[in-house]
This record gives sequence, structure tokens and C-alpha cells, in this order.
Amino acid sequence: MLKDSIRSKASSGTGTKRKKTFRLGIMGGTFNPIHYGHLVAAEQARCKFKLDEVTFVPSGTPPHKEPRKMADSEHRYLMTVLATSNNPYFSVSRQEIDREGLSYAVDTIQYFLDEYSEYKIKIYFITGMDAVMEILTWRNPETIMELCTIIAATRPGFDMEALKHHIGRKNFRAVKLLRASALAISSTDIRERLAGGLPIKYLLPETVEQYIRKKQLYLETG
Ligand code: ATP
Ligand code: MG
Repeated sequence: MLKDSIRSKASSGTGTKRKKTFRLGIMGGTFNPIHYGHLVAAEQARCKFKLDEVTFVPSGTPPHKEPRKMADSEHRYLMTVLATSNNPYFSVSRQEIDREGLSYAVDTIQYFLDEYSEYKIKIYFITGMDAVMEILTWRNPETIMELCTIIAATRPGFDMEALKHHIGRKNFRAVKLLRASALAISSTDIRERLAGGLPIKYLLPETVEQYIRKKQLYLETG
């Protein structure tokens, strides 16, 4: 559990000599469904930025996704647990799915800081290039920059210059880039493949595919 690993590794202010700052990666997303793009980005961010743990935070009711294409949050949560269970550095948080109302990155980051305020903790918010644009243009971008470091993973087809232009040079410098192994995998493509009867093998962990088949998710088009 995240709390246990923070407790054992991070400093709580006393005996600070032995303990250190806990570097927590937060990977937010709808995970509808989770796939290897998410897992590779999280694992490569963990290695590059020497994170102690990455916690995946499936969203509850996202402010800008169409609800009709969205699997129930419990399904998305369970698929995320299945996908991350074989990595000792990964965990899954129910924070957003158990919270009423809309989920914003800034609230989630603040939640983790408050929850573990007695420990020395530094947050790295891991996102894809497409999502960083949304995060930094939607709500309280300055606060987010103050609260955490943003790691933006490259996604195929994304224009870096457009991002720089959009969020401004100053903000752009505060974003750490991660050249994750280019994976053109997306949940949208996986849902379309399922609805069209095409294979999804090798795009996501087998356990997640089995769960999708068992629960007959994403069979409808549109
Ligand atoms: P959808 O197609 O439904 O939008 P998605 O594949 O983009 O799904 P999300 O749950 O929206 O997945 O993404 C969660 C986070 O993971 C976002 O920050 C997104 O940019 C990032 N991400 C998703 N796929 C990849 C990928 N292939 N490589 C790097 N980052 C990714
Ligand atoms: Mg997306």
C-alpha cells in the first residue's frame, strides 16, 4: 500500500537523517481501458525520475469525456488493478472514483499532499503530451506548477511547438519531457477495435483483455 511505502521510506520530520523525500508519481487518466501506452509511460517516468512509486488514479466523472463511451468507474478501477499488479512500484488509488463530483488534476495533487502532509513528499504528475495541454489551460495551471513537477510523455503525432505556443515559454520550461518509447496505442483505438470485432491482443495486458471479454465491455459503437 502507498501509505506503508511512504511511511517506511519518507521522512516525517523526526529522525530525518535516515529518511528522505518520497518521490511519488501520479498517473491520472480515465483508463477506459488501461493499455501498454499508460504502463510504459509510467514505468519509464519512474526510472528516469527515480520515483519511489507511481500511483494510478482512475478518474471518476471527468469534466470533458462523453459519458456514454465510458465504462463504469468500478470496471476501470479493477482493470487498472489487474494491469498494475505485477509491478511492485505501482499502486492504484480510489481517490477520484470515490469522490463526488468532477475531478481536476489540481484537486488530486492537493489531496495527496494533504493526506501525507506529515511526510517529506514530492509529487511528479505524469501525463501524455495531449493531456498536459488540457491540464495547463483548464484550471489553476500556476497552482499545479507550484505543487508538483509535470512529466509529459511524448505521444505520436503530437506537435511540441504547438504546446510551447499554447502554454507559453515559461510554463513550457517547467514541464519535464519524457521521450517514452513511441506507442501509438490509445483507449479510443482499443474501444473502436472491440466494437468492430478487431483484435486487441498485444495492445494491453492479457488479464485486462480477459476482463473486458468477461464483462462484455465496449461492444457498442459510437
Ligand atoms: P482516450 O483515447 O479514451 O482519450 P487515452 O489512451 O488517451 O484514452 P487516457 O486515460 O485518456 O488514455 O490517458 C491517461 C494519461 O495517459 C493521459 O495523460 C494520456 O496523455 C496518457 N497516455 C495515454 N496513452 C498514452 C501513450 N500511448 N503514450 C504516452 N502517454 C499516454
Ligand atoms: Mg486521452
